[in-house]
Amino acid sequence: MLRIGEGSDIHPLAFGHPLVIGGFVIADAKGARGHSDADCLTHAVIDALLGAAGLGDIGHHFPDDDDQWKGARSLDLLSMVGEKLHGLGFTIDNIDATVFLQAPNIKPIKSTIAQNIAEALGIQPFQVNIKAKTGEGIGPIGKLEAIEAHAVCLIEEPGSVELPPQKESRPRSISISLPMEEDSAPPQPPGGANPPEDSANDLTAT
Ligand SMILES: [Zn+2]
Repeated sequence: MLRIGEGSDIHPLAFGHPLVIGGFVIADAKGARGHSDADCLTHAVIDALLGAAGLGDIGHHFPDDDDQWKGARSLDLLSMVGEKLHGLGFTIDNIDATVFLQAPNIKPIKSTIAQNIAEALGIQPFQVNIKAKTGEGIGPIGKLEAIEAHAVCLIEEPGSVELPPQKESRPRSISISLPMEEDSAPPQPPGGANPPEDSANDLTAT
């Protein structure tokens, strides 16, 4: 069975911090503040994968009050999550993510970022898609106060089997007790499953 997961993350931007996006370090930019390397995109991908596997969220696995993860390289955390899913028998089909950042323009590094994430997870770069958007100059993204990322993924559950076709159990008609004039009964669709007189009786039953 396919399972979908989604994740999102936001970090404040400030000078004096590195700006790390999908493991790529951008110098001379307002950086992201956080407990680890504040790699917003990678955190969103981690949450998407954990969510798809039903394993909670990043805060559960890597608490931000645990010194073990202080300054951690988020791609390493992503690798650990990938290994966890792999160990449980899950396979990753694809990841699609969007980075919201006013500046700098990350278009030239999108493919490198995708490769970094794919490599950390042991999948192929074509299974990872990275999109980039600005904040159009408004809000915390547009005013360079924050970086945000959203991610979705599809994974396959271990031991996936073809489910048998569902039996037709949907009732073909119901009786409802609404006092209605006979001539106000709704028109029946042509060729409907029920003869019009039966439906009229149902609708006028008290
Ligand atoms: Zn984060």
